[in-house]
Amino acid sequence: MTQRTPAASRPPVDLRSDTVTRPTEAMYERMRAAPIGDDGLDGDPTVRELEAHVAARLDKEAGLFVPSCTMANLLAVLAQTQRNEQVVLESSAHMYTSERGAATFTGLFYLGVAGADGAMDLARLEDALQGGGHRLKTSLVAMETSHNNAGGAVLPLDHMQAVHGMARAAGAAVHLDGARLFNAAVALGVAPGDIARHADTVSLCLSKGLSAPVGAVLAGGKSVMASARVLRRMLGGTQRQSGIMAAAGLEGVQAMGDRLAEDHVRARRLSDGVNRLAPALSASVPQTNIVQVETAGTGMGNAQWVAALQAAGLLVRPWGRTRLRCVTHRHIGDADIDAAVHAFETVLNAG
Ligand SMILES: *Cc1c(COP(=O)(O)O)cnc(C)c1O
Repeated sequence: MTQRTPAASRPPVDLRSDTVTRPTEAMYERMRAAPIGDDGLDGDPTVRELEAHVAARLDKEAGLFVPSCTMANLLAVLAQTQRNEQVVLESSAHMYTSERGAATFTGLFYLGVAGADGAMDLARLEDALQGGGHRLKTSLVAMETSHNNAGGAVLPLDHMQAVHGMARAAGAAVHLDGARLFNAAVALGVAPGDIARHADTVSLCLSKGLSAPVGAVLAGGKSVMASARVLRRMLGGTQRQSGIMAAAGLEGVQAMGDRLAEDHVRARRLSDGVNRLAPALSASVPQTNIVQVETAGTGMGNAQWVAALQAAGLLVRPWGRTRLRCVTHRHIGDADIDAAVHAFETVLNAG
């Protein structure tokens, strides 16, 4: 994607995603120093260390390093379902709206369950889990926290516990899309393992707020993870001297989790600033690092908003027809938030 140089002299404030974060100096140092091997032959020691570390942090028996969180989610589905079975998940979940790879390639059916703030309605979930008759067997239920499309909302732990219990009673496994699990843990003030315990398998993205360049880890029980490891090879996800990347991931999970609180504070600062421009604009009140800005009251379309904000030095992403998504991350400071609010104000006053 080409970026126009903004009129102002400062580089644009990039709130498109926390995936734009670059490696820290400590990551580069660990990448250079990491012991490496061939992960497709006899194993890469740094990859093994990352897998074991993340599994321990999430209270799971085993971990698997994969190139992306999309692949981690796909492997979790493939390892815990059979053809012609059903995966049940909240209807705006990333796995449902943006991935669906397992459905495309295997004939699995994904059933979306409506909810609020990323949490499935439990009565509707109960209905979806009823098997028999003309219904497909549900073999997997998936949750997501923090929830991307729900503006970074964090699932309450009692909700997760209820879903886990209902799924178990119906004979289904539970997967947690924890791409931003560490953001959820920081927001709740608990350890990541306290969230992960409400799922059988958990994916964690290393390349979002945790700032590693690439990669994700899937964690779960030994036998499911052994299946996932075989499937990873089939999908082409087994890499060779991948310890170089795992080293950055280790630094991410060991050193970058706590600082996510800063991103959450700045997201709130952005939300407060934009909400001072009400009623034309209204911003969601974030629990984590994602703010959705509703533009329907401005009479300007989303594409127009994105372009005008870019000209004013702010990069955001369109989210649906009338919303914009802003994500805070390590490269965004207080001055950037103030500049972002100023950009919204400038465009609003010009429009
Ligand atoms: C980003 C994201 C993913 C996919 O992660 P990649 O590493 O980009 O494949 C999956 N789930 C959620 C909730 C995400 O935000």
